[in-house]
Amino acid sequence: MPEELGIVQVYPELLGTYGDGGNALALLHRAAARGVPARLVPVAVGKPLPREGDIFLLGGGEDSAQLLAARLLLADGRAHTMLGSRPCLAVCAGLQLLSHHFDDADGRSHPGLGVLDVTCGRLARRAVGEVVTEPADLPDVPTLTGFENHRGTAELGPGARPLGRVITGTGNGDHGWEGVVQGVTLATYLHGPVLVRNPALADHLLTSAAGKLPAYDDAEVERLRTERLDAADPRRHFRRGRHLVARRG
Ligand code: GLN
Repeated sequence: MPEELGIVQVYPELLGTYGDGGNALALLHRAAARGVPARLVPVAVGKPLPREGDIFLLGGGEDSAQLLAARLLLADGRAHTMLGSRPCLAVCAGLQLLSHHFDDADGRSHPGLGVLDVTCGRLARRAVGEVVTEPADLPDVPTLTGFENHRGTAELGPGARPLGRVITGTGNGDHGWEGVVQGVTLATYLHGPVLVRNPALADHLLTSAAGKLPAYDDAEVERLRTERLDAADPRRHFRRGRHLVARRG
């Protein structure tokens, strides 16, 4: 485990819609609660990604900010290696930036970093609202909740797996899946911030970077999680027993 975890926030001025900067705060808080020293490393526009980062975060962004971020990342000779090899969470515009290519509002295709085996087209209509998904492949993460506001889709190639199956909301498109897992990279359309609403996902990233962590319960976070799940998916009370309890390893 590194002496101090570097939580790298990529271009917070460009990529941080809907409070996605809170993902970094969630990681710092949950690391400190386990006595794991961690520090925030914001990367300003025009600066290269640092080599010493342990967890990389890319937030959402409006279309124009996203295009600028794409140009900057493609010009940073280190970005592909760092974002493809370290634990990383990419949200919404961040997901699209890590794809092979993504479409803009006029349907023009732009290259992404190609870290994820994903291509991003456009939905017929903007997807806005609450989302609930059931993680497909992460046994340590229970039902996920978040908020989506995007036009982009995500078509996964054979190298990528979906993060979750959609219970409520749109997610990657019309095929019932949300987000991407590829190696130690997680990508999602969920805002919230997603790591505040879903502390087990924050712990999954921290564990990828720092190894197994002691359990940490935060009653207020669990109350918020339950409230959001109930608001997004009222049918949930029928399934409560199966969904509510976070599994701990
Ligand atoms: N501009 C992108 C889209 O609409 C990303 C939006 C976002 O990050 N919230 O798909």
